[in-house]
Amino acid sequence: MADDHSGMASSGETMVGIGEDFPELRDSVRRICGKYPGAYWRKLEDEKAYPTAFVTELTEAGFLGALIPEEYGGSGLSLRAAAVILEEINACGCNASQGHAQMYIMGTLLRHGSAEQKRKYLPEIAAGRITLQAFGVTEPTTGSDTTQLKTRAVRDGDGYLVSGQKVWTSRAMHSDMMLLLARTQSADQVKKRSDGLSVFLIDLKSNLGKGLDIRPIDAMINHNTTEVFFDNMRIPADSLIGEEGKGFRYILDGMNAERVLVASEAIGDGKFFIRKSIDYANSRVVFGRPIGQNQAVQFPIARAWAELEAADMICRRAAALFDDGKECGADANIAKLLASEAAWKAAEAAMQTHGGFSYAREYDIERKWRDTRLTQIAPISTNMILAYVGQHVLGMPRSY
Ligand SMILES: Cc1cc2nc3c(=O)[nH]c(=O)nc-3n(C[C@H](O)[C@H](O)[C@H](O)COP(=O)(O)OP(=O)(O)OC[C@H]3O[C@@H](n4cnc5c(N)ncnc54)[C@H](O)[C@@H]3O)c2cc1C
Repeated sequence: MADDHSGMASSGETMVGIGEDFPELRDSVRRICGKYPGAYWRKLEDEKAYPTAFVTELTEAGFLGALIPEEYGGSGLSLRAAAVILEEINACGCNASQGHAQMYIMGTLLRHGSAEQKRKYLPEIAAGRITLQAFGVTEPTTGSDTTQLKTRAVRDGDGYLVSGQKVWTSRAMHSDMMLLLARTQSADQVKKRSDGLSVFLIDLKSNLGKGLDIRPIDAMINHNTTEVFFDNMRIPADSLIGEEGKGFRYILDGMNAERVLVASEAIGDGKFFIRKSIDYANSRVVFGRPIGQNQAVQFPIARAWAELEAADMICRRAAALFDDGKECGADANIAKLLASEAAWKAAEAAMQTHGGFSYAREYDIERKWRDTRLTQIAPISTNMILAYVGQHVLGMPRSY
């Protein structure tokens, strides 16, 4: 790990940073976030708008290109550094999920793309000249059963024809490109259910209206999420990433990083709620004393903090293992599970601590409360993680 970490604790040979690691990085992120206060996010919600200015500023500062190697114009930082960036964004009251995909979707291209694809796209993505914010996996009829997805990409001359539908494809209206998982071989012709799926890098802008339709979903949070419809959309053959039929494995390769990053966003949310709760509990005086003097107010905040700290440590361990190139599947999944639940506990504590004022939008508690609930459902729901732990970590039978 880099020398600029503070307070390292050793776990075997892998070093896990403790305390406020990457302090300079955190400061830089906080400086940017300071320009985007709650009023900015509330206005976006009113207008159902995308935080273009915020995401552009993060990109220009190099934060969203954190994981792109320097040879392709990125910052070439560790996964832990990337996690710190996203954590800080959310801890400041902003919303990292509006830009986070730009940080990690490109991992599939980086690991499995051809030399030419990498040369063509990665420097453009790092510089923000091309946005890659959309990831089309989930489908309306198959949900968590990803290998059963129905969208087809059929070879046709010098390209493929794509037909089918995706749902909950976030930011598709604000992204130049999309990483798409589609079936290139029928499910009944493959030996393993995960075979026959392929990954494509698709130009959304040029295909819009030509077999591609994107419709916004009216959702509980301002996530700019959409339904995407493909009707014989023609894409060139060189949109394919890696080998045909191996796409599911390529996507799985990127899951551990995604889990760690999303878990870190949840840690950031939790820190936001705890900070707001402490401020309010100390300053709100009812019955002649600060409400935080009451154990019933103080203890849920203290408990949420304790659980957040525990989840944070697993996040850090997962990132450290990942950065050392070691197996981190169990930690990455557990980190996402625990962080999403700890953040929710903190959100609930904040709601209760703020009493009626938690409903006043200007406090930003209800906005972040809605936002943070998502991490227990997407990008993977809690049950699917428990199924992973039960089967792959603890050796029990596959339950689904
Ligand atoms: C705001 C938002 C943004 C999103 N962004 C994206 C995106 O950009 N790209 C993308 O591809 N997807 C995206 N998603 C989709 C998200 O990844 C899925 O919603 C999630 O994976 C769950 O799938 P599902 O909604 O189809 O639920 P289902 O698979 O229908 O499951 C419903 C419930 O049943 C449970 N369940 C199902 N089967 C089992 C079982 N065998 N055992 C135990 N429990 C089970 C699940 O855990 C869940 O709680 C987004 C979703 C939301 C809400």
